[in-house]
Amino acid sequence: MRDEFPACRIAPRLLAWHAKHGRHDLPWQQDRTAYRVWVSEIMLQQTQVGTVIPYYQRFMERFPSVVALANAAIDEVLHLWTGLGYYARARNLHRAAVRVRDEFGGEFPTAFEAVAGLPGIGRSTAGAILSLSLGQRHAILDGNVRRVLSRYFGIEGDPARKDIADLLWQRATVCTPEQQADTYNQAMMDLGATVCTRSKPLCAFCPITDDCVARIQGRQNELPSPRKRAERRARHAFMVLAMREDGSVLLRQRPVTGIWGGLWSAPQFETREEVQHFTFWHLQGASAEAEQLPRVEHAFTHFDLSITPLLVRCQGSLGVMDGADGLWYNARQPASVGLPQPVKVLLEQLENS
Ligand code: SF4
Repeated sequence: MRDEFPACRIAPRLLAWHAKHGRHDLPWQQDRTAYRVWVSEIMLQQTQVGTVIPYYQRFMERFPSVVALANAAIDEVLHLWTGLGYYARARNLHRAAVRVRDEFGGEFPTAFEAVAGLPGIGRSTAGAILSLSLGQRHAILDGNVRRVLSRYFGIEGDPARKDIADLLWQRATVCTPEQQADTYNQAMMDLGATVCTRSKPLCAFCPITDDCVARIQGRQNELPSPRKRAERRARHAFMVLAMREDGSVLLRQRPVTGIWGGLWSAPQFETREEVQHFTFWHLQGASAEAEQLPRVEHAFTHFDLSITPLLVRCQGSLGVMDGADGLWYNARQPASVGLPQPVKVLLEQLENS
């Protein structure tokens, strides 16, 4: 029963607001194909628009179609993703592209169930892809929309809880208009990103301020209710930067599962004893003393990693590291492989020093 909710009245206001104040010139809004929208939606998960734009443009230049992406080596995909973080997104993007090539003849599917069944695509992302590229009517519930709806309806409770998530999906579905679902969804995302922001929302400029529960009750700062987060842990690791005379540095590919899965990283150890064992047994002509470089801090979703880089000059490896999962990375002629952000920074610092 759509008319039960006052939300049914928000669509016309959102559409009128979007025509004047929405974002219309983002790269993925031009030539809107399902493929282009899909890549943008995945990049925009956990990453700001301003950061995404140059990555998106480079990605599209190299992989202009889903088949081009499917045919690429995963290392090259991760290489273009380096710096965006959350690399599981890139691995899923590649896996999904391979499935689109092999199971759908290279044409991005247009049925909701087929899209939502691809790796890395949940209900909201599937809805966004199909509504933004094809105008299909599907509700979306990304972080921005969740915030707007929680405040507008005054919905309390951890949005990760199933009953709260179900309620939000119900409201999101009811609010989505039969016509112009694409513009409406874009307007909701834009409103959340530019007006109904996490802190200090600009309620005076909001098209639905008149009947917004949070605004009326002055509870903008309380809604949406914060998620219960596990306590952050702190971890420490040593990273060996084994450098040859030509300036190349030894990297190893990390296992596909776990943090930085599939990326290329300097060998990492928990203790100095492990470092000594490694340099003695695996590096040829290694300097006796490792040179300790300034620490690098990196925040993951659930923990903070503090890295102590140790520079070891050597002549090369003793063979074992030159296999398929080891390479000598030369920053002057960099190999097309994905690097974790802190490793990228360390290699750049070494190159510049
Ligand atoms: S009135 Fe304020 S809190 Fe309510 S939806 Fe608009 S910006 Fe968000």
